[in-house]
Amino acid sequence: MYTVTPVGAVPGSDAYLLTTPTHAALLDAGFAFAAKAMLPIVASRLGGRPLQYILLTHSHYDHASGSAAAKKRWPEAQIVASAYAAKILAKESARDVIRTMNDHAAREHGVFDYEDLLADLTVDRTVADGDLVDMGDLQLRVLELPGHTRCSIGFYDEPARLLLGCETLGVISGPGLVMPCCLVDYNSTRQAIARVRALAVNQLLLPHHGLIEGEECQRFLAAADFWLAETRRRLQAAHDQGKSEDDLLQLLKQWFYTDLARRYQPEKAFDLNARYTIALMLKKDD
Ligand SMILES: [Zn+2]
Repeated sequence: MYTVTPVGAVPGSDAYLLTTPTHAALLDAGFAFAAKAMLPIVASRLGGRPLQYILLTHSHYDHASGSAAAKKRWPEAQIVASAYAAKILAKESARDVIRTMNDHAAREHGVFDYEDLLADLTVDRTVADGDLVDMGDLQLRVLELPGHTRCSIGFYDEPARLLLGCETLGVISGPGLVMPCCLVDYNSTRQAIARVRALAVNQLLLPHHGLIEGEECQRFLAAADFWLAETRRRLQAAHDQGKSEDDLLQLLKQWFYTDLARRYQPEKAFDLNARYTIALMLKKDD
């Protein structure tokens, strides 16, 4: 009834092709600098079929910036994202940040020349909670899942028990280990995880990991919930013992910056995100 295939070209530039007998969607689009290498992979998986959608889980550069090149290659495809993501991607200042982040990541991957096309990047359709994306056999219901960013969304098809998740749910860093990825709000992250735990899920796509199936889905979500609360508890305890922000960063690194995490996240990006997470988690009024 549907297939989910990874089509990312380099580690960390994760993207998936979701197909039904009648429709095809690219889920996230990776880095702008990696799009040139990704497009032939997508094209070969499509085998000449049209691409109807480019679905963006959020506006971060490693998920959204490759979408401009995909849109250029398949102009009929609609770029779909939350209204908040559309607003961010339209901002010149945000595009500058995205450009800088891409340049850093490109250099780390030995790419020194690429066309970012960010000036052309616009969201064609904004979606809100409960909206449906028609993929024929799959009717993807939009779930607003803020927490990682305000603009984070997932997609859910109840009959197929398929959830296309986003980073608000956390990222697998090892067996039973889920790194919290809350960058804007602890409580909404917790609520988002609780919300999807209440759904019947038999296939769960995690953007930086791939598809997990069966009982593993609920095990992952339970671990995501546990590590979110546990990380906050540990950070607050360490802070109460007088640890500095740099000490806390080292602790987070010890717990979660595993070999697996290194595959998709450069240390600089980890540090930047970790500092946001630490600041959020030390707020006691949440
Ligand atoms: Zn992100």
